[in-house]
Amino acid sequence: MGLGNRSFEKLNAEYGEIRRENERLYDERLQRIYSSYPELKDYDDEIAVAGLDLAFAGVRGTDGSSLKAKYDELTASREKFISEKGIDPAYRERIYTCPVCRDTGYIVKEDGPAEKCGCFKKRESEILLEESGMSGILEKNNFSVMRTDLMDDENKAHFLKAVDLCRDFIATFDTDYRNIMFCGTVGTGKSFLSACIASELLASYHSVVYMSAKTLFDSLAEAQFAKGDAAEAAALRDRIYDCDLLIIDDLGTEMTNSFVGTELFTIINERFNARRSVIISTNLELPLLRDRYSDRIFSRITGSYDVLKMCGPDLRSVY
Ligand SMILES: [Zn+2]
Repeated sequence: MGLGNRSFEKLNAEYGEIRRENERLYDERLQRIYSSYPELKDYDDEIAVAGLDLAFAGVRGTDGSSLKAKYDELTASREKFISEKGIDPAYRERIYTCPVCRDTGYIVKEDGPAEKCGCFKKRESEILLEESGMSGILEKNNFSVMRTDLMDDENKAHFLKAVDLCRDFIATFDTDYRNIMFCGTVGTGKSFLSACIASELLASYHSVVYMSAKTLFDSLAEAQFAKGDAAEAAALRDRIYDCDLLIIDDLGTEMTNSFVGTELFTIINERFNARRSVIISTNLELPLLRDRYSDRIFSRITGSYDVLKMCGPDLRSVY
C-alpha cells in the first residue's frame, strides 16, 4: 500500500508547489532577460505567431512554404542576436528540479502505465521513514549489523530460527497475512528483530508505524480526551489502523487501564479484520498477558500470531 491517502495527497501537493516555484523562476528569468534585451521579446513574440501560422497551414492543408521561410528567417535572426549579445540560449528552457519526470513525479511510458520517478520514490521512502517513527533506530537495527557470536550454541540456534521466521515474514508480506508476537526478557532481540523487519519493508515502500506501547496509548488518549486538533487525531488513527505494518514495542510497560484494554483490542481486531499485520513485543509471559488484558485479546493473539519466545542473555550492549 505504501503511503496513506493523506500523505500521498501531501506529496502530490509538494510536487505542485515545486512546479509552481520553477514556473515562477522561469518567468522571473525571462522578464529579466527581456528587460535587458527588449528586441529578444519581439523576436520571441513574432516567432510564436509565425509558428502558429505555420501549424494552422499544416492543419488546413494549405501551402505553408512562405510561412516556413518566414519562420526560419526569424529564428535564424534570433539565434544571431543571441550569440552577438552573449545570451545563454537556455533562457527559454523550462526549469525542472527533476528533468527526468519534469517535476510530475511520474514517468509516462508510451506502451504502459505511468511509473513513479526515482525522485518520487526517494521522497516516498523519506516520508515513510519519518512516519514510521524509526528515524535513527534503523542504522543500528538491521540484518546487516546482526551478531550472534556472543551467544552460546543453543541460544544461537534458537535466535537463528527466529531470524528465519522473520525473513519469511518479509518475503511473503505481500501475499500472506501474518502477525508476530515476540515474548521474552529484556535484551533478547525482540525489538531488534522488529526493527530488522521494519527496515526491509520500508525499503520496499511499505508503510510501517513503530511505537512503544506507552507512546501508542498515550497518543491515543491525548487525541481522544484532550481538546487537540481533530485533524491531527484523525491522522494518528489513520496511521495506526491503515499502515501496512504496525509494530507495538514493549507491550505491558504502559499504564494499563480500561481505555488501554479497549484500544488494544480494537486495534488488534480491526487490523485482523482488514488483514493488516501487527508485530508485538513484550516482556510478559503469555499467562500474564491474559491476566493483564482480557481473554478476548489473549485468544485473538494466540489464534492469529506466530508467538516467538526469545531467550538468552541480555544482548543490548551488542546491538
Ligand atoms: Zn523525477
